[in-house]
Formats: sequence, structure tokens, C-alpha cells
Amino acid sequence: MATILIVEDDPLLLDALTGQLQQLEFEVRTAGSVAEGQSVLQAQAVDGIILDLGLPGADGMELLTWARAQIAGLPVLILTARDGVDDRILGLNAGADDYITKPFNMQELQARLQAMLRRARQPAFTQASSAAGGPSSTIGPLVLDHASQTAHLQGERLDLTQREWELLELLVNRCGEVVTRDDVLAAWRASPPEPGQSTAAPLNSNALEVYVHRLRRKLDATNLNIRNIRGLGYMLNKP
Ligand code: CA
Repeated sequence: MATILIVEDDPLLLDALTGQLQQLEFEVRTAGSVAEGQSVLQAQAVDGIILDLGLPGADGMELLTWARAQIAGLPVLILTARDGVDDRILGLNAGADDYITKPFNMQELQARLQAMLRRARQPAFTQASSAAGGPSSTIGPLVLDHASQTAHLQGERLDLTQREWELLELLVNRCGEVVTRDDVLAAWRASPPEPGQSTAAPLNSNALEVYVHRLRRKLDATNLNIRNIRGLGYMLNKP
């Protein structure tokens, strides 16, 4: 089930949107300002944002820019009364995935939201966005810097081997979804061997279990949990 953050300062509209999305079985989080939106995003992973621009205090564009810098590949749909072409271009250039102007049709919003989430779930898109667009991903207390291949947990650098990094990155990129054993093994086989390991070091399910065990120990003191999904693989639970 996907979790959506709605940032909207009009309480009636916020209620209506929340009700509609819950009927579609979305988990909904809400915020009435940029600061509240940031708090929600820092506390938990969401699958997408519906973002108003005219907000009290700070403009919604600030949240868009902030979220783009913090969270790789997080899809954002702007929902605003600003209907000028310039506004649209500004929003899309700042990294919004879609732009809908008020007044809007609820069915159209739903359709475009679903389409945006589908695009975001496609592996090619996730990889491209984490490699090119998104410098880092944040899941609760864990921050991954994709360019330098480093991870920090509660501000402390995590000591990871290359294989552990690749496994963790896959789990984080698809947080809340199953990462199959084949996905991990394929990623491992596509990357160079770890220093000190021969190319013939077996990359199989047994090796994977060992690495998952090590990662779990490194994430032990947190609310991050790597679950076994029987017969399939692993899933990093959303904190
Ligand atoms: Ca508003």
C-alpha cells in the first residue's frame, strides 16, 4: 500500500483529498505548511507528495526543492491555484513530476497520481534517479549518499563493504517493496569483486543470507528492519 503526503493549507480540501485517497486504500499523511511537510518526510518514508504551492509561512516550492535534494526519486505532484504557464514551467523545472491546477477534477487527479506512482516504481526510473538526479536517500535515521556510496546512520558513518552497500542501496531504493534474491545477485554480479575476494567467490543465496545478517546487525539499534519474505527475498520495512 502506497503512502502519500498531502501538503495543503485549506482544511476542507485537505479533508476531501484525504478521504478520497483513503478510499483508494492509500495511507495518507498530511501537513499544512512546508515545515510540517519536512517533519513528516524526516520521520517516515512516503511514496509520493501532493503539494500545494500557496502555503502559509514558506512557499510550497521550497518543500519541492528540499525534498528533491533529500530524497532520491520521490515523486511530487503539484496541486495549485497558480495556473500561469510560467508557474508550470517553474514547478516542472524544479523537479515536480506533474502539475495540476485548481479547480481540478478528482478523478483526473487520482488517475494522474496513480500514473506518477507507477512511473516511479519502474526500476529503470529508480536507478536513473538515484544515479543521476538524487544525490541521497533518507529512510528514517538512515541517509545514503549514492555518488560516494556512503551511508550514515543517525549521523554516524556506517562501515560497509561494497557488497553490503549494494544490498543496502537496493533495499533503500525499494523500501517497502520486495527485493528478490535474483535482484541482489544480479546487482552483485554486475559490479566488480570486493577487494580481497577472488572473482570466483560464490555469489549465491547462502552468501546473500550472510550479508543480510551483517546488515541487520549494523541496523540493529534502529527501527529499520530487513524482513525475510519467504520464497522471494527481502524487504526493508518503512520505519
Ligand atoms: Ca493554499
